[in-house]
Amino acid sequence: MIDPNYKGVTATADGTVRYSPTWMLKQPTDLDVVTHEVMHIVQDYGDGAGPGWLTEGIADYVRYDYGVDNATAKWALPALKPTHNYDNAYRITARFLIWVEKGKKGTVQKLDSQLRSHTYTADSWKKLTGKTVDELWAAYVASEPKV
Ligand SMILES: [Zn+2]
Repeated sequence: MIDPNYKGVTATADGTVRYSPTWMLKQPTDLDVVTHEVMHIVQDYGDGAGPGWLTEGIADYVRYDYGVDNATAKWALPALKPTHNYDNAYRITARFLIWVEKGKKGTVQKLDSQLRSHTYTADSWKKLTGKTVDELWAAYVASEPKV
């Protein structure tokens, strides 16, 4: 729904995505805001499924992979900075998830599945990868080329 009364950028709830026409006019090439928001409909985790940062990270992970034209929108994953952490959500978490997937393929899909079934816990990372999320983050940071 394109809602002239909606003052944010986008919001998704109960199977409906609400888009601000003001945002669309300001960012006419940002088609993949739709990819991100519609992923929230696909996720449909419900309340209390897991941390919001992971939900948003997975939505941007999907946008990165399935986006139709992120390049024209100048949407890209940011370079890792010392101030970043896995729970920063959105692109920062998405970039981390891509790295996790490289080490242990299928992890994101399993996390998504656990969020869906409300079986996700902080321990899920250790069970799926052998490392806690903090240990994974430390390994991710260590794997980055230093500038
Ligand atoms: Zn989102």
